[in-house]
Amino acid sequence: MAGADASAAMVSVDDALQKVLTACRRLHPVSVQLEDAVGMVLAEDVLARDPLPPYRASIKDGYAVVASDGPGEYSVITESRAGNDGVGVTVTPGTVAYVTTGGPIPEGPIPEGADAVVQVEDVEQEKETLDGLKRVKILVGASQGLDIRPVGCDIEKGATVMKSGELVGISEIGLLASVGVMMVKVYPRPMVAVLSTGDELVEPTTQNLSRGQIRDSNRAMVLAAAVQQQCKIVDLGIAHDNEEELEKVLDRAISAGVDVLITSGGVSMGDRDFVKPLLERRGTIHFNRILMKPGKPLTFAEIKSTDEKAAKNILAFGLPGNPVSCLVCFHVFAVPAIRRLAGWENPHLQRVLARIKQPIKTDSIRPEFHRAIIRWELSDGSGNPGFVAESTGHQMSSRLLSMKSANALLELPATGMVLSAGTSVQAILISDISNFPMSKMPDSLTSSSLDSSSVIRSSMIHSQTVAESQDANVKVAILTVSDTVALGTGPDRSGPRAVSVVNSSSEGLGGARVVATSVVPDEVGKIQDILRRWSDIDKVDLILTLGGTGFTPRDVTPEATKALIQKETPGLLYVMLQESLKVTPFAMLSRAAAGIRGSTLIINMPGNPNAVAECLQALMPALKHAFRQIKGDKREKHPRHVPHSAAAPADVWEQSYKLASTVSQSSNCSCSH
Ligand code: AMP
Ligand code: MG
Repeated sequence: MAGADASAAMVSVDDALQKVLTACRRLHPVSVQLEDAVGMVLAEDVLARDPLPPYRASIKDGYAVVASDGPGEYSVITESRAGNDGVGVTVTPGTVAYVTTGGPIPEGPIPEGADAVVQVEDVEQEKETLDGLKRVKILVGASQGLDIRPVGCDIEKGATVMKSGELVGISEIGLLASVGVMMVKVYPRPMVAVLSTGDELVEPTTQNLSRGQIRDSNRAMVLAAAVQQQCKIVDLGIAHDNEEELEKVLDRAISAGVDVLITSGGVSMGDRDFVKPLLERRGTIHFNRILMKPGKPLTFAEIKSTDEKAAKNILAFGLPGNPVSCLVCFHVFAVPAIRRLAGWENPHLQRVLARIKQPIKTDSIRPEFHRAIIRWELSDGSGNPGFVAESTGHQMSSRLLSMKSANALLELPATGMVLSAGTSVQAILISDISNFPMSKMPDSLTSSSLDSSSVIRSSMIHSQTVAESQDANVKVAILTVSDTVALGTGPDRSGPRAVSVVNSSSEGLGGARVVATSVVPDEVGKIQDILRRWSDIDKVDLILTLGGTGFTPRDVTPEATKALIQKETPGLLYVMLQESLKVTPFAMLSRAAAGIRGSTLIINMPGNPNAVAECLQALMPALKHAFRQIKGDKREKHPRHVPHSAAAPADVWEQSYKLASTVSQSSNCSCSH
């Protein structure tokens, strides 16, 4: 029987991506012509060989003057146009020189020489005297240095204009040209070979399909996706489900010297799915089943090149045949791999937070990459600007229409719950943001009343809005504190998890609903801004911060929190510590704080997604009662006395939970990927 062992462990998406990136090494740098470097990553630092401007240059069309001369009539002793110095003539007190923008300021005896430019607008028109001399009336005074760019004011001689590892965009091309670079050392574009496998496949040009045939859509799509990632491509065509044929095609790819081989199809559990066994024979398989939906059969291997000199391994992605699974896997795994080979320092996909427009049912086993169209709305449903995500509809993995126009993959946790409309989820961007649909500006917002910078601002990836939620008795806000997530270099796993834990435990928490989520970096000021806003203005009942409670130098969540709380609540920390110690001894390394500010309970939770769920469960028996007490309800006394066990340091536990990296999940379904 072909295919992998059905009981093989499924690797989590994070672990799989880690394995892929570990296998990717930057390609050997090459030198290319400057104009060919756009989109590539620099493999060397570039220094300025001379200063820019190389001479003192005028910023305006006007007259170079001696500033201390002041207003008055002066002889124009020379003209200095851009590219044409008024050679040899010096401006001395009592004289001026005509200069154009970019023209060199005629030198004079320092310090009396020309040291300012008066723009033509502040000068009466030149007159020629009878003896042929030109005179001009300067109408205003000028301070020293006015409208002159000193030597090297744009770029100092020897300055590093670009560093190795930086991406060359169009402005960088200009910058490199300005310092005289004609050849640049860059990481080359990876060469990607694309193969479709399947006996049923025929060329897309086939007009009349025979029974059992379908047109190959994956190859055109993956080739286009590789081109979009700036790769060089090799089209390997269609191979039948035939071991020998597949071997031959693989040899062709190897002899073409490709860096990446991408196949689609033939990695399921069918008796003619030969791709996995082939990759296994010819290299090392790093994973062949993955805990994601769609994309379960995704296989990743390193294949040894038969060419001794090449000394490089080919990275092989066996993508599932279903077109949606194929493309989702390309985005999630092949794009970061290609970027890493091409020298990107941060190969991860950009993520934003978006509120879902409709309720979405999540899978109970596999985290899902739900295709969606996200748009920036001036009101995301909560009265604040933000991204709103609309599902592309039925998510069957064969239905490429569910991918059409999709600009994001929503990362939905596997809780089996229904995420209610308005829930914030993470969205991986899969298209250029400049193509994003924008909401129509309401008529009431004129351009003068709308600060465009507030519409799409740099913090747009972090919603910090408080949704109107009439049905919430207990309003909960969740703050992820993480440099990585805030920078967009890693996904927020804890935030969405905490949202679903709270929303699914709503009843136990007295009708709790998450009304706000946000992400901030590990910075006291930023953490406190949001904590203040949520407690003092939005008056939420419970704020859970996630992360930043450990021993690393950047961990400051407890400090930010302690400075704001008015009453400490060490008992909560004690209970969480007890719970966390059951899972990991590292729990004792937590420095978390908890307490009450006004009518808001603030609790620092660990950053680990599993720990959040466990800690919240542990607190559940008392939280409902706590909220009543905070609101001043004295009627309900302590339900019963809970004896205190031996005192433990209440402000220590941490997030170092062991994450189950693989989940053993046997399944004999080979079609639902
Ligand atoms: P497989 O992964 O080979 O089991 O294929 C899963 C499903 O995807 C089957 O319905 C195939 O017909 C379909 N499929 C496989 N390769 C392609 C392709 N290149 N283009 C379109 N559909 C494909
Ligand atoms: Mg097949």
